[in-house]
Amino acid sequence: MNIGLDIDGVLADFIGAFISYHNLVYGTDFSYHQFTTLRFGPVIGTSHEEANARVTEFNHSPFFRLIPTIPGSQEAVKELSSRARVMVITSRPSALEHETRKWLGRHFPECKEIYFAKNHITSDNQGLKPKEQLCLDNQISLMIEDDLEHAELCHKAGIKVYLLDQPWNQETIQGAIRAKDWEELSKLLNNQ
Ligand SMILES: [Mg+2]
Repeated sequence: MNIGLDIDGVLADFIGAFISYHNLVYGTDFSYHQFTTLRFGPVIGTSHEEANARVTEFNHSPFFRLIPTIPGSQEAVKELSSRARVMVITSRPSALEHETRKWLGRHFPECKEIYFAKNHITSDNQGLKPKEQLCLDNQISLMIEDDLEHAELCHKAGIKVYLLDQPWNQETIQGAIRAKDWEELSKLLNNQ
């Protein structure tokens, strides 16, 4: 069985690290639960373009290399990789491939297959395939996601989706199975 793993919000606490960066650099006091959308402009009080520019700054700062893992993800992925083929499917900018591979090598050494997908929020990776297409191309039958739009598109493409609960994905979604944390996700995966 081929299982797809998203990175940010699933394996990597991207938003937690971005908040630490933003609070330090811009003197703000944001917290995790305020990020109720992945479109950061309304959350941080800027335009969409300015929010994307700040994310790009963060991506090229030392904070990016230090993004922590999501609790429970390392143990769960290690166990999962012993009985399934795991592939990472991310819409991070493909320019970050080198740093992303290094980060995965440190925290998720079993994740060696990495594919970059088109990004639907920023202008990154526009020439690349959408995530659901990469899943289909790689015979991924189950995708683990945190982004509602990706989850919905994967579901519509016939891929089973587990959604890791996060403040930014609280809207009701058809078809995806929600798990509150990696412990719950592991139980669902054990029943596959
Ligand atoms: Mg994500």
